[in-house]
Amino acid sequence: MIIVRSRYMPPMRRYAAINLFGVFFVHPDVRVTKTLINHESIHTAQMREMAYVFFYLIYLIEWLLRLVMKDNAYMSIGFEREAYANEHNFHYLEKRKHYAWVKYLKKKKKKEYKKKHKRKKHDKTRNR
Ligand SMILES: [Zn+2]
Repeated sequence: MIIVRSRYMPPMRRYAAINLFGVFFVHPDVRVTKTLINHESIHTAQMREMAYVFFYLIYLIEWLLRLVMKDNAYMSIGFEREAYANEHNFHYLEKRKHYAWVKYLKKKKKKEYKKKHKRKKHDKTRNR
């Protein structure tokens, strides 16, 4: 993976790094960890299998849809969910199947939301 340190990429300070066609742009003050490299390597694998263009196209479409759905658009994107779920597994890419990101398109958050909501209710009851 090619890593380029730049003050101007990504253009918005909100993101510390961006992977463009397998080239990883990072702000100078960002610590490049093994986990971060693994996360971006997962994106590179996704890009390759999607012939790059379709990766960005689907990424953008899904981001826009998630925005309308009032999700946390960025964190709900299938590509991101796969990368975040496996960024600590440094052998993930060795065993990863093609198009593994597809299974992360399913909305699993309902279960997570219910669990969280239940816990909050439970906590409220305990405080009374
Ligand atoms: Zn990512």
